[in-house]
Amino acid sequence: MDYKDIPKVELHLHLDGSIRPKTIAELANVSLKEALSLSVAPPKCQDLNDYLTRFDLLISVMNNKENLERIAYELAQDLSNDNVIYAEIRFAPMQHVSANLTLDEIITSILNGLYKVNIKTNLILCMLRSHSDTANYEVIDLAKKYLGKGVCAIDLAGAEALYPTRNFAKLFEYAKKQNVPFTIHAGEADGPESINAAIEFGAPRIGHGINCIQDEETMELLKNKNVLLEICPTSNIQTNAVSNIGEHPVYKLYERGIKISINTDNRTVSNITLTSEYELLDKVFDFTIQDFYQINRDAILSSFASTEVKKEILKRLENK
Ligand SMILES: [Zn+2]
Repeated sequence: MDYKDIPKVELHLHLDGSIRPKTIAELANVSLKEALSLSVAPPKCQDLNDYLTRFDLLISVMNNKENLERIAYELAQDLSNDNVIYAEIRFAPMQHVSANLTLDEIITSILNGLYKVNIKTNLILCMLRSHSDTANYEVIDLAKKYLGKGVCAIDLAGAEALYPTRNFAKLFEYAKKQNVPFTIHAGEADGPESINAAIEFGAPRIGHGINCIQDEETMELLKNKNVLLEICPTSNIQTNAVSNIGEHPVYKLYERGIKISINTDNRTVSNITLTSEYELLDKVFDFTIQDFYQINRDAILSSFASTEVKKEILKRLENK
């Protein structure tokens, strides 16, 4: 089976972690070898914080309109080549804003790049755990402004073990008031308590969430509330959230009836495609082709796409 042939839905994908290495080299004015060594993470990092240091160079080249448009355009091409038919692409706008680059210019440039390729996409704007409340409230307001116009939701990303999810209750209260949908990175570098907090805030999806495997009650809660886990297998090995792929709970969670989607997280930092992630899962676990189609149908149903887009994508995932 060529896993490229499966039409795929990707819900957890960071724009900054997915810039083509050649483009990084060109924009940062370094050799390809240097770009690769600074941005591609080893098979095993110490932890999530160590993994996150690979983003410094990547973020530094996302500093003007032209670069942002090009980076988004190239990612949309890569997604299309990977047979991804719907993607939610995330990034933290406050990391790119400067005296020469406004928040509106950031969003517009990225959307211009994405729209050049015939693929359905939406943006998720990340708040960062290490940022001030003021900066994070600004992200919610920005998402509200562009909601339905290329932006579909917000997220909370960054060093989970250093800044517990519980601390961010007020932000999600505000997002709910503004009718801005959200997903939250939780249960990646921190335990089930982080996932419980995200569910309590009302997140219909959780980024990673794999540490739910440590707690029966959290798993029951995810299942009963129909919360989908955005699973990123290779990334979890690299950040040491899971020791090796054989130990990854993805199949156990799926068998248990918890909704999951399969994602790359960061195509460049992890040096993978979604097709290669499916191949990896096929090699290690008992997923069938029908399972992969079901996972993609679950993903689109839990996506933040419009009803119209959901219908269209579901149709392309029928009859398998
Ligand atoms: Zn992520």
